[in-house]
Amino acid sequence: MRLDLSGLASFTGRLITPYDPGYEAARVLFNTRVRTRPALIAQCAGEADVAAAIRFARDNGLPLSVRGGGHHASGLSLVEGGVVVDVGGMRAVAFDPAAATVTVGPGIGWRDIDKVTYVEHSFTGADGLEYGLAGPGGECPTVSNAGYSLGGGYGPLGRTFGLGCDHILEATLVDAEGQVLRASETEHPDLFWALRGAGGAGFGVVTSLTYRLNPVPKTVVGGLIAWPMAKAEEVFRVYRDLYADRADEKLALCLLLTTDPYPEGEQVIGMYGMYVGPPSEAAAALAPLDALGEPLFSSMGETSYFDLMQGMGEEIVYGLQSKWLGGYFAPDGFDEPAFAKLADHFRRMPSGFSMVRFDLLAGGAIARVPQDATAFVHRSPLHYVSIISQWQGDEETDLNVSWVDDFAEDLRPHLTGEVYQNYANRELTGWETAYHGANYPRLQQVKQRYDPSDVFHTAQSVRLPS
Ligand SMILES: Cc1cc2nc3c(=O)[nH]c(=O)nc-3n(C[C@H](O)[C@H](O)[C@H](O)COP(=O)(O)OP(=O)(O)OC[C@H]3O[C@@H](n4cnc5c(N)ncnc54)[C@H](O)[C@@H]3O)c2cc1C
Repeated sequence: MRLDLSGLASFTGRLITPYDPGYEAARVLFNTRVRTRPALIAQCAGEADVAAAIRFARDNGLPLSVRGGGHHASGLSLVEGGVVVDVGGMRAVAFDPAAATVTVGPGIGWRDIDKVTYVEHSFTGADGLEYGLAGPGGECPTVSNAGYSLGGGYGPLGRTFGLGCDHILEATLVDAEGQVLRASETEHPDLFWALRGAGGAGFGVVTSLTYRLNPVPKTVVGGLIAWPMAKAEEVFRVYRDLYADRADEKLALCLLLTTDPYPEGEQVIGMYGMYVGPPSEAAAALAPLDALGEPLFSSMGETSYFDLMQGMGEEIVYGLQSKWLGGYFAPDGFDEPAFAKLADHFRRMPSGFSMVRFDLLAGGAIARVPQDATAFVHRSPLHYVSIISQWQGDEETDLNVSWVDDFAEDLRPHLTGEVYQNYANRELTGWETAYHGANYPRLQQVKQRYDPSDVFHTAQSVRLPS
């Protein structure tokens, strides 16, 4: 049945229903395994559109979801038979170089923000080096800044400057009544607290965010180094020791098990990332890697933060089905027994598109923020494992799902049970504690205050207190 869209006469963006030839392109997510079919995708052009879409869903008794860049690992940004409030096209950027802040629309990705604040802007630091101002982004250019930061936001600048959510100074949000609220330390502080870590978990639609920015040299040392899988356990050990009790917060290296090139190349273990400081300091920070001998490949060298991130983003393959499981390592979990399992399961993966990543390196500035200062609770574990099964055809689904399920089950004894809410798994039982830990009851109070009718309900949104 066709929806009567007359209630959206004032909508200035684009309204897309299943009768529109553009429906599939507007619907499809990064994870193409998600086949959810909304009744309406409301591609909003501004706050008034967002408010109109929320009211339309309520007036018609339809469920709604919020969509930005479309990267939700389990597809909860789409809702079956409901209204998708799509803010991916709201991409304004207002840069204040003097204050070192930027105010952006929710849909824009970090590379497009960095172009304005880091690439096109320069200043000379007290050390005589040329700097730009970088946002706290990750490597994927199409992840929205809002989806990323509202759920936490781990990137290579995290140990030095904090998570994406730690950089938010102010948020504008359209609530369940269609009202525009501004949240900051001084306005709606309880909502501001909840948005920083649980902002995608059912409080409203964020329509702009103001972030503080970080001074990052225009030239840094970064890149990717890869070794053959035969060296996997040795590389794990060196990586563990690189960070155990380490005070240096500028070394941001992630670990990766992958196939190079996709999907039929050689299985490799790699480290990628950067030294977030003057290039002259990088060699000493990277020296422990020399013990690993000659790599298969290394692009580690002088580059710019932007070029490095852009290059990493270009390695991301689109148009695949996926299942993503993982968790934070227990304090003694990232060690020999886990290393053996990681190497063994990876070697047996059925699809060359799959990978295992350790890309949420924490500590440093992330760990210095108290666990109750924001809604983001996972501040003490240092390492996270993401087991990302990716494949093409439906006939490959069972095999690839079994691989990731068995792998995750085998690793479970080494993990804390906490899961990063931005790497969401819709099958997770106990997601309330796994995502939000001790902060969950307080989130329920904020939910009661800002969305008492549970309009922003999804399978994993914060529940009203009982
Ligand atoms: C290839 C890839 C790379 C990634 N890299 C990183 C990384 O380096 N670091 C990291 O921390 N995470 C990373 N992520 C995870 C990513 O941060 C989350 O999946 C994030 O939620 C994606 O946001 P989105 O808007 O692109 O996705 P969507 O699917 O559009 O949205 C996901 C959810 O975010 C919430 N949301 C989005 N926008 C708004 C808004 N304006 N208001 C309220 N809620 C909103 C909603 O709950 C929505 O369901 C990556 C994911 C992928 C697939």
